[in-house]
Amino acid sequence: MAKFKIKHDRDNCIGCGACTMVCGQFWSIGDDGKADLKDAVNNELEIDEEDLDCNKQAAESCPVAVIHVED
Ligand code: SF4
Repeated sequence: MAKFKIKHDRDNCIGCGACTMVCGQFWSIGDDGKADLKDAVNNELEIDEEDLDCNKQAAESCPVAVIHVED
């Protein structure tokens, strides 16, 4: 199964919460008010194809485009 990588430029996250609304199983708001990508290491996470749509929606919902989905 294909693997994809999600990268979160957390420094520039404005904590709007949009990603948590569309993809709550991967995204939540941390104690500092910025989004956390669940189980990410250095704000990067490898995902399976089945989780791609959810994270793509998160990326598309982000008003400051700090969520990146890579093949
Ligand atoms: S949608 Fe973007 S700016 Fe808003 S909380 Fe998520 S990562 Fe941060």
